[in-house]
Amino acid sequence: MAWFKKARKPIAPAKGKASRVPEGLWVKCPECSQIIYNKDLATNLSVCPKCAHHFRITSAERIKTLFDGEWVEHDANLTSTDPLNFTDTKPYKARLEASMAATGMKDAVVVGSGTIDGIPTVVAVMEYGFIGGSMGVVVGEKIARAIERAIEQRSPVVIVCCSGGARMMEGALSLMQMAKICGTLARLDRARLPYISVLTDPTTGGVTASFAMLGDLNIAEPKALIGFAGPRVIEQTIRQKLPEGFQRSEFLLEKGMLDQVVDRREMKALISTALRFMGAKAVPAAPPQPFAVAAEPAVQP
Ligand SMILES: [Zn+2]
Repeated sequence: MAWFKKARKPIAPAKGKASRVPEGLWVKCPECSQIIYNKDLATNLSVCPKCAHHFRITSAERIKTLFDGEWVEHDANLTSTDPLNFTDTKPYKARLEASMAATGMKDAVVVGSGTIDGIPTVVAVMEYGFIGGSMGVVVGEKIARAIERAIEQRSPVVIVCCSGGARMMEGALSLMQMAKICGTLARLDRARLPYISVLTDPTTGGVTASFAMLGDLNIAEPKALIGFAGPRVIEQTIRQKLPEGFQRSEFLLEKGMLDQVVDRREMKALISTALRFMGAKAVPAAPPQPFAVAAEPAVQP
């Protein structure tokens, strides 16, 4: 065998096989094209360290950014019964199963109670990964129960919206959830308990048209898409070019639809400050457990 003979391997990747950065290690910011190490992004609450672009996050990540630590999930096992036996390009049941497998959730909202800077709060967070965060009977029921729970234990409510609107596969039943949640919110209001609505990218359709805009404080993340109908539908209807930044948080703040646009990294502090301002009280932290020190046996001389 010759000394210098070696099998030649093509340097360039074979045709049709694109060279690919392993997924989940580096992310490119869609706004400023900065390449960010995934772990750095996670420690920065999925906000680009260079341009403050807010990446979308899952409901599980969101809940972690809000609660102090331990929290209890409620009504995790409610599932849709597919009341209309609905089929579009594929059966609604198959869509539900695919979303359950992808997200590990039973529907598009997670509800829990815990503390935010020491303030006992009931939080509902919508999950866009579950059929576009759409609001069906289960979402409506879970949010309504969350509010009722808050009234019972006299604690404030925070709802983080992230939704494409009502779930068309449940027809009119999904639209009824708007009224149901609004009715429960009215009871929360009569009980003189605060409700903060956090609008994230995207918040559209029936969610915007109901509880997302009913907060005692409506705050949004920067540049989040917030609207009822999509811009294309509006343009076609009114036959006019829409202004720059239309339906984004900053535009809505300027027009008086929102109270504040808040960076995700300051969201928790702002929520707890606002809740305290509205009269919510923090519970004192549990006293540290004294060390159980075993008595040393007396030394026998
Ligand atoms: Zn960026």
